[in-house]
Amino acid sequence: MNRQGILTSLESHSPTVLIVGAGINGVGTFRDLTLQGVDTLLIDRSDFCSGASAASSRMAHGGIRYLENGEFRLVREAVQERNWMIRNAPSLVKPLPTTIPIFKTFSGLLNAPLKFLGLLEKPSERGGLIIKVGLIFYDAFTGKTRSVPRHVFDGRANALKKYPRLNPGIRYAATYYDGIILSPERLTIELLLDAEKEGDHARSLNYVSLVGGNGDKVTLKDELTGHTFDISPRLIVNAAGPWIDGTNWTLGLETQYVGPTKGSHLVLENPELSEAIGDHEFFFENKDGRIVLIFPLFDKVMIGTSDLPIEDPDSARCTEDEVDYFIEMVGRVFPDIKVSREQIVFRFSGVRPLAYTRVKNAGQITRDHHIQENKLGNIPVYSLVGGKWTSFRAFSEQVTDRALAFLGLPRKADTKSLSIGVGKDAAAIKTDPHYTHGEIAEMARHEKIIHLDDLLLRRTLLAYLGQLTRPLVEEMSNVLGDALGWTETQKKAEVGRTLEILADRHGVIL
Ligand SMILES: Cc1cc2nc3c(=O)[nH]c(=O)nc-3n(C[C@H](O)[C@H](O)[C@H](O)COP(=O)(O)OP(=O)(O)OC[C@H]3O[C@@H](n4cnc5c(N)ncnc54)[C@H](O)[C@@H]3O)c2cc1C
Repeated sequence: MNRQGILTSLESHSPTVLIVGAGINGVGTFRDLTLQGVDTLLIDRSDFCSGASAASSRMAHGGIRYLENGEFRLVREAVQERNWMIRNAPSLVKPLPTTIPIFKTFSGLLNAPLKFLGLLEKPSERGGLIIKVGLIFYDAFTGKTRSVPRHVFDGRANALKKYPRLNPGIRYAATYYDGIILSPERLTIELLLDAEKEGDHARSLNYVSLVGGNGDKVTLKDELTGHTFDISPRLIVNAAGPWIDGTNWTLGLETQYVGPTKGSHLVLENPELSEAIGDHEFFFENKDGRIVLIFPLFDKVMIGTSDLPIEDPDSARCTEDEVDYFIEMVGRVFPDIKVSREQIVFRFSGVRPLAYTRVKNAGQITRDHHIQENKLGNIPVYSLVGGKWTSFRAFSEQVTDRALAFLGLPRKADTKSLSIGVGKDAAAIKTDPHYTHGEIAEMARHEKIIHLDDLLLRRTLLAYLGQLTRPLVEEMSNVLGDALGWTETQKKAEVGRTLEILADRHGVIL
């Protein structure tokens, strides 16, 4: 069904389940529920995968540092989910060798016990010993689904032989494996399109918001026309990520489930740094224990991330202070490689929907996920709190099982080893700027593209990898516009909108 078909169908036919928010958790739940034959509507006020899910560090990982917080369940689950993702979407999620440069031997040993006693304000830098112990656990958690090699621990001389540009002040370098999600945006759209192939009981709409609700009705708004309409689902899944509480308030439910933190990233064109890291991610911490990552993304290098409390998720931008911090951090590990602002081709910032807590240090807030339940009249509202990109499938399964129990339906299919979209035939990812007009028109027809920025920022990696020029944006608007039936005025307006988004949110001035 196309957009208009879905909107018309909603006039006479409310879905059984409404999912609000089409980030990875909303889309993962949509796929699982529709696979069980449940009539489900998924909406997002913006494009699919445009919130936290587009701002992630792109690591399919267990999160070795969460072991220190005693989060063994989370790490075990995420490591196993990482393995499933690498198997189920092999062209979009690849094993990623990850090297930790280590400057100390014994430091950080007290982090975990102090955390346990509630006496840790800020963790100290982790030394070789504690990292070695962590990696032994991490390898052990992989279990039978292992899809990556075990870790290797090098002394200084060996490490400098392997990575000659590394800071000679290191004592060790540990290399272990995680996964890289090359394009979270494409992986999300592939999942969503897989779900819609299940039949007309799977309906999804971008640019539709939840704007109100009372009794047994909720009000939705088509953001393209301003038209509002009511539906009466039996169950609501609030998967609005950092906007969960705002969405609940819209429904008259006063909740405080998330305490969001902001994280930013840069994408750099720096051939020297690209060569120094090779195909490895470098994952390390600064002196107060904050994590920094430098990693290869095609011919570019991505650097992140920060972890700063934020009130309004819509205001998240990568600031000049963060840029200074990232540049300084690269210097700590690769001191003789010059990084400058002119090399930045893209920047992005997003907000983690972390569980609300009074813990002062953002890095210590749990990344685990859980469901909170409220009621709108007789309709249960499940809020999906926390979680990691990596563990979306397990979280979606948990939500689906709870929904099935409420609806009195059996689980018919399992998602654990289910291939995702392009994973099935391992098609190549769309990074090449030399698209044919036919390919763009094909995406326009089948991938629910509404705005030009959907194409340039989320269906392709053109913006992300710094491949856009003003003429290319204009040409893309023409080609996409022809496929979608835009007028000349609309084509111009779409170029204007895209240039504004690129400048405001991504520091890209064309
Ligand atoms: C900086 C950063 C780095 C991260 N790094 C990693 C990593 O490396 N690995 C990892 O596993 N995880 C990582 N994460 C965590 C992970 O990205 C998130 O936990 C996950 O993407 C959350 O997805 P979500 O679907 O819950 O929320 P979101 O992706 O934010 O989706 C929520 C959606 O709800 C929509 N919405 C809001 N209000 C409404 C409304 N009223 N009506 C309709 N729609 C609405 C929004 O438009 C949005 O699209 C990172 C997160 C951040 C921010």
